[in-house]
Parts: sequence; C-alpha cells; structure tokens
Amino acid sequence: MSDYKINTKCVQGGYTPGNGEPRQIPIVQSTTFKYDTSEDMGKLFDLEAEGYFYTRLQNPTNDYVAAKIAELEGGTAAMLTSSGQAANFFALFNICEAGSHIVSSSSIYGGTFNLISVTMAKMGIEATFVSPDCTEEELNAAFKENTRAVFGETIANPALTVLDIEKFAKAAHAHGVPLIVDNTFPTPVHCRPIEWGADIVTHSTTKYMDGHGAAVGGAICDSGNFDWMAHADKFPGLTTPDESYHGITYAERFGKEGAFITKCTAQLMRDLGSIQSPQHAFLLNLGLESLHVRMKRHAENGYAVAKFLESRSEVESVSFPHLESDKYYDRAMKYMPDGGCGVVSFTVRGGREGAERFMKALRLAAIETHVADARTCCLNPATSTHRQMNDEQLAAAGISAGLVRISCGLEDKDDLIADLAQALDKV
Ligand SMILES: *Cc1c(COP(=O)(O)O)cnc(C)c1O
Repeated sequence: MSDYKINTKCVQGGYTPGNGEPRQIPIVQSTTFKYDTSEDMGKLFDLEAEGYFYTRLQNPTNDYVAAKIAELEGGTAAMLTSSGQAANFFALFNICEAGSHIVSSSSIYGGTFNLISVTMAKMGIEATFVSPDCTEEELNAAFKENTRAVFGETIANPALTVLDIEKFAKAAHAHGVPLIVDNTFPTPVHCRPIEWGADIVTHSTTKYMDGHGAAVGGAICDSGNFDWMAHADKFPGLTTPDESYHGITYAERFGKEGAFITKCTAQLMRDLGSIQSPQHAFLLNLGLESLHVRMKRHAENGYAVAKFLESRSEVESVSFPHLESDKYYDRAMKYMPDGGCGVVSFTVRGGREGAERFMKALRLAAIETHVADARTCCLNPATSTHRQMNDEQLAAAGISAGLVRISCGLEDKDDLIADLAQALDKV
C-alpha cells in the first residue's frame, strides 16, 4: 500500500483479503485462540513466532486497523488502545519511569495535562511545560539530564494552537529523546507529523478517525526512526533484557522499526490492559474508510463558519488556524496546506449571559462535551466544563466567559451559518 495516495490508503489500507476471504475486515470476536501443542503456544509467549493467543495482547481485527493507521501516518508499526488517554499514557510510560522527566507543550488537551501533571507526577515522573510559541532557547532550557520524551499536539484541543513540529523535533533529537505528537485533530489526512521529524504519533480515535461519535478508542504509531540503541543509557526498557519477558532486549530483537510497539504491547498491554475491543476496531475502520472525504468537508465547514463569525459584530474574536487573520495561519499553512479540522473557538459579546442566550437559541448545533463527529456541536466552557471557575480564574486559564467552542460537522455550511446567524441575533 505504501505507493498509494492517502485517499486510497484510507479505503483499502491494512487489510488485503485473499481469494474467497471476506471483503470487509472480519470481527474476530474471540478472547482466545486454539493451538495443537503447548510448544506452539510457548513460541508465541517467547515472541519467537507471530500469532495470537489472548485478545488483551493482540487480536487480528485490531491489527488490521492498526496496520491501516501505520500506513496513513507513514510509520512502521502501530497499536490500538481503549481510549486516547490510554494511547498517550502508554506512549509516554513505554519510555519513562520513576525519576524520568518530560518536556511538554502547555497547550494540550485537559485530560492529557492532568495525566502528565497529576497522575504521572504521582508515579515519580516530572514534567516541564513550555509554551508552544517558546523560542528555541527557552525550549532547550527546559531539558534536564533525566528528560526522556517531548510531547505536543499538532492542533491543540481546545486552544487551537499549532505546534512547530520541526522545532520541537530538532530540540528533542539534540537531547537524544523522541518527540511524541498527538495528531488527533488534523488526522494523517491533513498532517503527517513523522514527515516533519516526530518519532511517535498518538490519536484519540474517538474523534475524527471514528468520526460518528460511536466508539471511544486510541492509537499509537511508531515512525521506526528513533535509534534507541544510540541512546541506550536513557532507554533501558528497550535496550536491556526484559526479565519479565524471558530476557528479551526489544531494540535488539525487533530493531528500530518494531521495538517500541512490541514492548508497548508485550509489556504495557499485558500488565495494564486497555485494549480496544474488536467491535470498536471494526467501527473505527468504517470511519477510516471515509476519513479523507470527511476531513475535507470538516475543514471547509470550519473555515466558512470562522469567516462568517469574524464578520459579525456580536463576536469579539475568532480562533481558527486556517483563518488568514489567525495568529497561527502561517504555521498552519506550512504543516497543513490542505486544511486542519472543523473546530472553531470564538468569544460572544456579553460574557457568560451572552454565550448562554446564543447557545439556547441554536437549533442545528447541539450542546455536547464532544468534538469531531459528523453532527455539529458546541460548548461554553464557562457554564460547563469550567463552571467551577470565576471570571478571574477563567481569564488566568486563557478562557473568556463568553468563549464558545464549535465543532463543525458534515452538514451543509449554509444551514450551519443560518443557524448561527439567527442565534447571534438573539445575543
Ligand atoms: C479527546 C482527546 C484525547 C483523549 O481521548 P479519549 O479518547 O477521550 O480518551 C486526547 N488528546 C486529544 C487531542 C483529544 O482531543
């Protein structure tokens, strides 16, 4: 599949049926797999033979879909997880342990910020957060002797900042560690971070990849580019024998191409669970089959809505990286020339009350804690996800009381704009 264009990979990547086999990816709804001899099974446990023995570790349905995601991102190996949260935790914890340090963009999804700053801190893994717009000097100054990974989001949820992937990759590599990029918002249809130097790419497949609000899931994809052995002292989990796995040294046995995902599967998935169910993987694949068609429409609708909002006097400000007036426009055009995603943030005049009157009047756009599915939805953080904060605390978090985040779906843009127009009339 590697020579085909991304549109073709979305439809046919990952699974090529043989003569007489199912055209659609089969759902292997089985927790376990049968063998004729204990020796056969023993070889699988020793990672000497490839095959399946228990779905917590691997399942054929999941592997077809993970292979498609690897092709889309241009990586060498990938795995599915039960959620985006699990994907980011596994990607980081696969190379970090108590005593390690992470450099992360401060502009990331709230769940990931909590994961890194609270939960992983309790495990003895500390972090330094840097602005996605920091200078090269500021970025380099954030590294420590024990830094093991750099983390950021291509387009951040919900701030809609754009990561300078090349700059972050350069700094990570200068310090001998990989760059992990959460590519949930643009998806590989609009940005492939590996082409810009990222080493590991993660996804909340719950968002555009599934695209229908049907199944929570995540994915991790390895570029196969990072040379673990060249920085062996930093990554003993990959470069020294794993006593919990018969003394295997992942980087030796599976090379740059396979070490990261094999360890993440054989060790973390074994010990922590968080596998995606084969049913969800099947649903995810249905979403992936039309991802290229849908992303184009999401980005078009997002742009049309952002342009319209900018023209209205009831709107104080609009954030959308592909809007010509946006702070991130040049960076967005560099990394995502064909568009980003359909999420737009804007501030309605009249603060909390203004936003409330506006949202109450909407007919097509539903009020939901979600983004990135086929139906347009929106959220006012001040009266929902951040309602425990007063106006001063909100301002400190960079969120105005009248901020509305709208995720433009796949409806006709004229209908979306008409709905927003009648609701703004009531502000
Ligand atoms: C939603 C989201 C996550 C978390 O994903 P879940 O599937 O909800 O666990 C992580 N990163 C980004 C950018 C997200 O938007």
